[in-house]
Amino acid sequence: MSRLLVIAFQPSDAVASAGFAASLGLPWDLLCLTGASDLDLGNEKIISANLDLIPPADGLATGLAKAIDGYSHIACVSSMQSKDFLARLAGTSDLAMVTDVVGIDSPTTFKRPIVAGSIIATVEVLSSPVAMTFRPAGFPKPARSGVSVQESITLETPSKATIVSRSVRGGARPDLSQAKVIVSGGRPLKDAETFERVIGGLADKLGGAIGATRAAVDSGIAPNEIQVGQTGKIVAPDLYIAAGISGSTQHMAGIKDSKIIVAINKDPDAPIFELADYGLVADLYDAIPAIQNEIA
Ligand SMILES: Cc1cc2nc3c(=O)[nH]c(=O)nc-3n(C[C@H](O)[C@H](O)[C@H](O)COP(=O)(O)OP(=O)(O)OC[C@H]3O[C@@H](n4cnc5c(N)ncnc54)[C@H](O)[C@@H]3O)c2cc1C
Repeated sequence: MSRLLVIAFQPSDAVASAGFAASLGLPWDLLCLTGASDLDLGNEKIISANLDLIPPADGLATGLAKAIDGYSHIACVSSMQSKDFLARLAGTSDLAMVTDVVGIDSPTTFKRPIVAGSIIATVEVLSSPVAMTFRPAGFPKPARSGVSVQESITLETPSKATIVSRSVRGGARPDLSQAKVIVSGGRPLKDAETFERVIGGLADKLGGAIGATRAAVDSGIAPNEIQVGQTGKIVAPDLYIAAGISGSTQHMAGIKDSKIIVAINKDPDAPIFELADYGLVADLYDAIPAIQNEIA
């Protein structure tokens, strides 16, 4: 029988999964690797692994090889970490794999972006089971329904990799992939201290996350994990503020699902103004403090 298992890396993945599961239309269970989840997402079971930290992908794939027995669909919210893990699980457990699903035609036919999001491909999967990652923005959360049965499992996650250290950046800011508000900066932010003060300052005022262009990341102005775009994170906030960002196709590929894009750029001919909902031709060093003063 067809059945979906969603593997949540963090509690926010669990909530983001409800819309995807409703679109797929199969009975589903939720496996929370860390932390607890809401109880009324429409799933039948909540399985808690309660790991303190996410182990390396090879260990996690080994640990979950048995847990996926009996499921026709195994899915995670799209992220670098989930793709790393699911590719290993697919390889070792002989699963088909489809990444970045944004729409569902049937339990075997999915829509996913290709060519930096400029084309939506329809992909039919001819074998079962299938491993999938999905972008939550494509799947609005349905009304809540029912309370799930709770189970717990203990995972053994032997790995050939050793984690030497972990560093969390961004402190209490929301997760970039699921933030409702994102303030992003580009190359003109000069250095890491300026980026944090200007972009981070506005993001904190708005309760949002911070993002950056690849040019900002490559120049050492912003950390790699906040790069947005074709080779960074794909985001879908309600509000995306792009400050000092030209609007390259590679950057826009990561933000086109944003509900409102606001561009601040001192060049009136910058390509980002063609795609932004609101544009401000201004120096970001004048505009951002002025916006912050209005909010305060
Ligand atoms: C294979 C490949 C993959 C890539 N993947 C990505 C990706 O995932 N994400 C990504 O972002 N890029 C990616 N890139 C890079 C991309 O092509 C662009 O080079 C990059 O997005 C440009 O970043 P930027 O807008 O910060 O810099 P720039 O293009 O240099 O633009 C800076 C902008 O800031 C404006 N400006 C300057 N000073 C100020 C000021 N004081 N106030 C206001 N505005 C100001 C300028 O008018 C300009 O428009 C990729 C490139 C390749 C080849």
